[in-house]
Amino acid sequence: MSKQPFVTKEQLEEIIKEYPTPFHLYDEKGIRENARRMKEAFAWNKGFKEYFAVKATPNPTILKILKEEGCGTDCSSMTELMMSERLGFDGSSNEIMFSSNDTPAEEFVKAKELDAIINLDDITHIEYLKQSAGIPEKICCRFNPGGFFELGTDIMDNPGDAKYGMTKDQLLNAYGQLKDLGVKTFGMHAFLASNTVTNDYYPTLAKILFELAVEIYEKTGVKLDFINLSGGVGVPYTPDKEPNDILAIGDGVRKVYEEVLVPAGMDEVKIFTELGRFMLAPYGHLITTAIHEKHIYKEYIGVDACAVNLMRPAMYGAYHHITVAGKESAPCDHVYDVTGSLCENNDKFAVDRKLPKIDMGDILIIHDTGAHGFAMGYNYNGKLKSAEVLLREDGSTRLIRRAETPEDYFATLEGYWDVDLS
Ligand SMILES: *Cc1c(COP(=O)(O)O)cnc(C)c1O
Repeated sequence: MSKQPFVTKEQLEEIIKEYPTPFHLYDEKGIRENARRMKEAFAWNKGFKEYFAVKATPNPTILKILKEEGCGTDCSSMTELMMSERLGFDGSSNEIMFSSNDTPAEEFVKAKELDAIINLDDITHIEYLKQSAGIPEKICCRFNPGGFFELGTDIMDNPGDAKYGMTKDQLLNAYGQLKDLGVKTFGMHAFLASNTVTNDYYPTLAKILFELAVEIYEKTGVKLDFINLSGGVGVPYTPDKEPNDILAIGDGVRKVYEEVLVPAGMDEVKIFTELGRFMLAPYGHLITTAIHEKHIYKEYIGVDACAVNLMRPAMYGAYHHITVAGKESAPCDHVYDVTGSLCENNDKFAVDRKLPKIDMGDILIIHDTGAHGFAMGYNYNGKLKSAEVLLREDGSTRLIRRAETPEDYFATLEGYWDVDLS
């Protein structure tokens, strides 16, 4: 597979006249088409709903587009709940999930006030919730099977080392307690592997959860209303990998549903998902300009974006594909480290990357930044957060978040300038 950007150099030159680099650019057409495929993949399940993981791309315009495509929100903090509320996501129509952990009391209170589906991360949270917000009529419990999560012979992830969720015994116990406390509608949730690039993750996870759902019904009498397969369906960041086929994934889950849940008389269970990366990552680019070249022991290209705009390479050594706009078919006969300006040597978007010859002023397109990109930004070195721009379906653009200004950066210091320490 070759990775092609969703914009051309000519389009970018026009956009840059209005919005200087660096900025994140989102592809509305791509986002909508993908969300529709997602819906189609699970259309066999009557109650299916995707709750977009807000933390991946917490932008109101993006959330609005996804809302129009039938998605709800999956929140994990106060501000994400507030964002959902202001955008009109309706908790009482089950449009808001609250999948948090180590949750402060006031967030449980807010979630309950919005009638969001609270996803309990731990059995001790039953008492904590009871004391803080009170027990709602609908609730979800998060499961952690421990050990390793394997697909065939491949170890995909290590739930036994993850802080999330309850053990099986705790889970069974929790449903019993919650039933006694008057809960009427129950769900189960698990997130066992991150960024999987295989069509087998969801079906394998679904089998584990469906079998457990049958056991929960037999042992506690609690018949689950929904099962939340959560996030983890990933995207190929490198060009050598095949993208996931969401239609095949949906069909794989359907087969297991018919094999396990239907014979157990549980053919009304709704399937929920909470994807972030799969919904948005490919439909965002970080657009940046080459401003320096440096020839020392290696060849460096310095760009005007840095790790505060996209932390994944610095934080996880993550690969993000780079296209030099207008040089899409030029030979990759140069080897560069592409760096930002932080006083941190890990501030590199690419290391030893084969690219076409880069000239100063070239526009670089950093791929797959639509999820966990802008969102992970920070202000180290006093760097300011960039703008976010939406490329509309008709080719026009709209600013959906302005760039930070020094005044924004100093705003929390208001009134602290004339400090008298005497
Ligand atoms: C991060 C997260 C997601 C989204 O994960 P992706 O890998 O972006 O799909 C979903 N649910 C929970 C609870 C999360 O923490």
